[in-house]
Amino acid sequence: MKCRKCGGKASVNMRQHKLALCKEHYLEWIPEQTERFIKKYHMFARDERILVAVSGGKDSLSLWDILARLGYQADGLYLGLGIDGGIGYSHESQRLSQKFADENNLKLHVVDIEGEYGHSIPVLSEISHRGHGKPCAVCGLAKRHEMNRIARDLGYDVLATGHNLDDEAAVLFGNTLNWSAEYLLRQGPVLPASDGFARKVKPLCRFYEREMTAYALARGIEYIYDECPFAEGSQQIFYKEALNQLESARPGAKLTFYLKFLEARKSGELFVEKNIEHARLHACPNCGQPTSAPGLCSFCRMVEKAKVETE
Ligand code: SF4
Ligand code: ZN
Repeated sequence: MKCRKCGGKASVNMRQHKLALCKEHYLEWIPEQTERFIKKYHMFARDERILVAVSGGKDSLSLWDILARLGYQADGLYLGLGIDGGIGYSHESQRLSQKFADENNLKLHVVDIEGEYGHSIPVLSEISHRGHGKPCAVCGLAKRHEMNRIARDLGYDVLATGHNLDDEAAVLFGNTLNWSAEYLLRQGPVLPASDGFARKVKPLCRFYEREMTAYALARGIEYIYDECPFAEGSQQIFYKEALNQLESARPGAKLTFYLKFLEARKSGELFVEKNIEHARLHACPNCGQPTSAPGLCSFCRMVEKAKVETE
């Protein structure tokens, strides 16, 4: 495989884009594409202040790295959830987030949930009895609340998260299986600010997870490999695996699923009942069935053609 730009040895091959690139050109391509998505979906402007939610994982650290490389004013926010899971998950993810910030001269805000509210996420979850054992319901609620609070309190224009295409496609898949109209209508690369909620954007939403892994590795970003210990066995992971099977049989299926959804949402076709156009139909002069164009209907044309060709 050769790099499309320089003909050198390709190190990343993206079947779904029919594009192979060497490391150097891959590291240029990712920010170029990100910039294109930022503009296309009107995420933010050069003079706006961005708060990046950083978890210590590859996606959020890569997002921060890309925005900084593109020259945007992006600060980080790390939320200390107090999750240990036998691997010191929160401790290690905070350490790596801080290390990245220090090495790149970037500003990281750290908010510790226990310090702020007296209990870690797992303890809050036990006390509140939400979510049947797993702290994810409480964790999601706390993360949304705190990210929004800090973005507003510190005067940021927009809140950016590192969700990639695999994340977005999995959420979309779940919402579609349940036909959750309200969630479907709110899902997208940008959620505009409203009633005290900061604008939220997902600049990586069109990159496959493996593309972000390749970027983080090529950039030498040190990130936490472990997922949160509570993520295991989640619905989200199950949906991701199902979509991966689909993707391996049909490269690009995930991207098409997501992009076609965005198109349908934008055009207002989602959940709008339309009267199927029955106007201006004609009768086929051969069979009499309705057809949109004057002359023979499609079926009769096909049969005609077959006749001519086999004569
Ligand atoms: Fe929070 Fe995600 Fe861990 Fe659940 S899996 S506890 S939502 S970080
Ligand atoms: Zn190249």
